[in-house]
Amino acid sequence: MQTKSKIKVQSENIFPIIKKWLYSDHDIFARELVSNACDAITKFRKLAAVGEAAEKEGETYAVRIGVSAKKKTISFSDNGIGMTADELDKYINEVAFSGAEEFLSKYKGDGAGIIGHFGLGFYSAFMVAARVTVDTLSYCEGAKPVKWSCDGSVDVTTEEGTRTERGTTVTLFAADDDSKKFFDYFTLRETLKKYCAYLPIDIYLKDEDKKESKADKKNADKKEDDKEDAERQDRDGEKINKSPLWVKPPKDCTPEEYREFYREMFFDFKEPLFWIHLNVDYPFNLKGILYFPDADLRNVKNEGAIKLFNNQVYVADNIKDVIPEYLMLLKGCIDCPDMPLNVSRSFLQNDGYLAKIKAHITKKVAEKLKSLYASEPDNYKKYWKTINPFVKYGCMTDRDFYGKIKEAVIFKTAAPDEYCTLDDVLREKTVYYVNDKDAMSLYLEGFKDKKILLLDDLIDVHFIQFLEGENRDVKFARADSDADAFKAEDTDAADPKLAEELFKRALPDVNVQAGPLSSGAPCMLISGEQARRMEAMGRMYNYGADMPSFKDEKLFVNTAHAAIKRLIETPDDGTVKLLYGAARLANGSLKPEEAGELAKGIYAVIGK
Ligand code: ADP
Repeated sequence: MQTKSKIKVQSENIFPIIKKWLYSDHDIFARELVSNACDAITKFRKLAAVGEAAEKEGETYAVRIGVSAKKKTISFSDNGIGMTADELDKYINEVAFSGAEEFLSKYKGDGAGIIGHFGLGFYSAFMVAARVTVDTLSYCEGAKPVKWSCDGSVDVTTEEGTRTERGTTVTLFAADDDSKKFFDYFTLRETLKKYCAYLPIDIYLKDEDKKESKADKKNADKKEDDKEDAERQDRDGEKINKSPLWVKPPKDCTPEEYREFYREMFFDFKEPLFWIHLNVDYPFNLKGILYFPDADLRNVKNEGAIKLFNNQVYVADNIKDVIPEYLMLLKGCIDCPDMPLNVSRSFLQNDGYLAKIKAHITKKVAEKLKSLYASEPDNYKKYWKTINPFVKYGCMTDRDFYGKIKEAVIFKTAAPDEYCTLDDVLREKTVYYVNDKDAMSLYLEGFKDKKILLLDDLIDVHFIQFLEGENRDVKFARADSDADAFKAEDTDAADPKLAEELFKRALPDVNVQAGPLSSGAPCMLISGEQARRMEAMGRMYNYGADMPSFKDEKLFVNTAHAAIKRLIETPDDGTVKLLYGAARLANGSLKPEEAGELAKGIYAVIGK
């Protein structure tokens, strides 16, 4: 007997809303229906485990999906708990939905988060289907099979079903419009691989249009095992999912398994440097693996590198509110089972749970780096070149991380293979550094035994600014920015007044100062640290021609140098200009178009 009833919603507009609101994510219907099927199986197994339902001998659980482009159908079949006619009415007909008006006003602009949030997961089928049927048989003793059918209006029919095995089959029939494209084997396979690749229950996908049998086609010459495989494929289709490595206890995972999982998940065949396996049960649930890729971390940004899962169901990439921003430089997966499958904006804004997750991840990452530094310092130093932008960015954007990671922040010095710690650095009042050892070699000579850092990453100009903000009595100064660093005592030195006069006459536009220096150079350009940093940042942000000039440069004349003493006795403007050119060459500020002029000057002196 067929009964007709109505879906009990206040508004008749539910279907247009479903179609319109989830426009960007239409393929989510597959995730929702597979999730429902898995839930139904989980519920049945729980009942069986406590003796409230009877499992068949040797019963195995699976969700079987069949697609036919010819018939324009997709079916999702499970051997879960099933539904009685009453349950169908209660769970499917009475949409947990208090009215389209409230719904619309409350969730304007937040479309992706609603379905599921309102217990509407099942109805997402109507995003792609014109008609949907549910064929179900409840586990309850004496239950009768029921078949439900709805053509996208609020009118539904319920009749006696034909199902003989416990469970539910949801079948989608395509409309003759754009959504037909979802009823294609390869499209569906891709969608399932995206959302369901790591589900805990076996998921099979079968192309029902495929007539040719693998088992028949290649038989005689096949080994028994292969034949069995082919037969299984014929029967079940392709298995879509496998158990993700993050659910395995960390102590049982081998390095090869971690690497393999990384390759498979990110199609990145360059081995990761190292990884962190997150595994918390209490006071909240969190599992996952974070990988440090062996790549320029700055380029990884915004590539969708951190995949978020909910109970092994893929949710999305890089959800900014769930994971600290700097972690997006890494690659990995995080499974938060306590979070709703459809993360709505309002949830993200008001949840203490997320703050706890963030804090935990931060702690784990800091601990991993610290323990690596303590136990494998040589490896850590090797990795540092790759991971330092990540650590520095983390410090700058997350105070909590900075507090925890300090001990594992290290600096390369200008000496070969020598590193020092942040603590060492912060003990100095002025921390000297170079960005390029070779280009600044002349300055390095003047420093003799002093420690000089090599800060050659783009992020360093920001990082030192940050460290100065955090540690008010420490200043960073590039090797060419502080004449005091080179000042020396020399009783034999020439009179600085005479030297200054000599240079000012030849170079009226240059700011000149003189005195004895420890450097082997007759004069050196000193450029103010702050002005240079401003210039560097301006360049980074690409101000181009509009960039204001911050120039703060001084030519420091070394009165202890023999050449200067001689020049004072026999002044020559040409030589002074030449020395100025050489000083600019040594600090990298000589422009290419000025090189010819400098060379000519040198030839002239040699020719004298
Ligand atoms: P949600 O899953 O968020 O509760 P849905 O609209 O997806 O919302 O489903 C509503 C209800 O219908 C489910 O809670 C479940 O009780 C029932 N249901 C849906 N699909 C199945 C299924 N395959 N087997 C058994 N029950 C199902």
